[in-house]
Amino acid sequence: MMTVVDGAVQMTATNPRTGQADYVFTPAALAEVEQTAQRLRQAQPAWLAQGLAARIQALLAWADAIEAQRLDIITALSQDTGRWFLSETEVDGAVRNLRRWAALAPEMLGEDLHGPVLDSQLISTVKYQNQAVPYGLSGFISPWNFPVTLSLIDAVPALAAGSAALIKPSEITPRFVEPLLKTLDAVPELKSVVGFVLGDGTIGQALIEQVDLVCFTGSVATGRKVAEAAARRFIPASLELGGKDPVIILETANLDQAVDSVLRGGLSNSGQACLSIERVYVQRSVHDVFLAKLGEKAGALSLNWPDIHQGNIGPLIHAPQADIIGHQIEDALTKGARIITGGEILNHGGGRWCPPTVLADVTHDMDIMREETFGPVLPVMAFDTVEEAIALANDTSFGLSGAVIAGSSEEAIPVAEKINAGGLSINDCALTILTYEPEKNSFGLSGMGGSRMGPASINRFIRRKALIMQSGAPAPLDILEESRAPSRPQV
Ligand code: NDP
Repeated sequence: MMTVVDGAVQMTATNPRTGQADYVFTPAALAEVEQTAQRLRQAQPAWLAQGLAARIQALLAWADAIEAQRLDIITALSQDTGRWFLSETEVDGAVRNLRRWAALAPEMLGEDLHGPVLDSQLISTVKYQNQAVPYGLSGFISPWNFPVTLSLIDAVPALAAGSAALIKPSEITPRFVEPLLKTLDAVPELKSVVGFVLGDGTIGQALIEQVDLVCFTGSVATGRKVAEAAARRFIPASLELGGKDPVIILETANLDQAVDSVLRGGLSNSGQACLSIERVYVQRSVHDVFLAKLGEKAGALSLNWPDIHQGNIGPLIHAPQADIIGHQIEDALTKGARIITGGEILNHGGGRWCPPTVLADVTHDMDIMREETFGPVLPVMAFDTVEEAIALANDTSFGLSGAVIAGSSEEAIPVAEKINAGGLSINDCALTILTYEPEKNSFGLSGMGGSRMGPASINRFIRRKALIMQSGAPAPLDILEESRAPSRPQV
């Protein structure tokens, strides 16, 4: 929320456990975005010139500094997100991400890369030497659901590649920035090429005007604006957007395990994850048993209220999300859905909470099966044939990820291969959150651009130069002659 105090613009962030706007910060002025970008641009050539080994040392030093200050960052993050364990996971994950890239970068950015040596009639030897030239200044715009993870996930490989990083976190969850910036004091050479600009969407727009490449994580609606702005500037845009992930449960599945997988995949971070399971398709022969087990286990889960260290479900980080979830549930009930458990938004201590909610008798006419929910809601639908299940799973404009659970991976894999999504979990759900290694691309409205995951994701931040060497005599000019005999050298 923005206010003007004595002529100065201030913003506040709200603690989702109390509903109190208890964190005041000064957003960047538009001119400041440009100034920060200029500062980073000035420092970037030295960052690149010092070489990969020195950059790796700096990334490792930053990891150590974050680890040393982890409690401060976790505390700040938990005040914006209302959950503790995942705040720990995010900060520890940031440390792992730095160390992971420190280990991967030498292989991916070897400073002496050689391409193939070719022979032909015209050119006796061609030597390719590829050089990796990073974009000078990369920009990162992140959402509120995993504020630390998503501010750094792409920035770290960009830094490893030799780029400078300008980051705009969500105005809804800015608290972590202050303690995180302090950790950069221990690594001055890195501090000179990392900048944070706080503020709302206008600051995101201003960032795009300054950078050479933009990585955006957020909603489809904003992603479209980002892509348009990037296209106008002719800069690459890497977009990681929303999802409506399906899981297909075949009758051969171990239903108890499937229930646990679906609950973990759908309720983690209170469902506020792009890769949440948001549609559950169950083969009709086991549908009723599965639904009863799912409802029972979901209903037994508790809110992390009043103690942040107890319980399974945190508050809704961005309170207006409660209205979206509430409307989707209402729309489903109006059109014939049935609540098995949950279904009501609760108020505790000033915060808004959605208990785990299981809905039955849903159809694709309902918003709950078509729009991103971003809450702990699991709508369950029966299917008869595998073909029908695949058609239902693919009846969506999204394509982020999905899952298939069967009695064996041999049975699940052919089904998963027919789902139009980038990350498919086999015999479990949301496995893409557990590993950064497999490359994957988003389908449909879930995003565009190269893979964020996998070692090759660093290639998004570099341009390769091919130096093609002529080591023999250049081709004779008569190669251009139209009447030359077919046996003569071809271009
Ligand atoms: P938004 O799209 O509302 O915001 C994302 C970021 O963009 C915020 O920092 C926001 O600033 C900023 N922004 C807003 N308007 C503009 C603009 N015109 N130009 C540039 N930047 C702008 O997303 P949410 O924060 O609501 O995040 C939830 C969404 O993120 C969900 O759809 C979720 O699925 C998606 N997501 C995708 C992931 C993936 O990997 N595919 C991972 C996690 C989330 P501010 O908030 O300050 O207004």
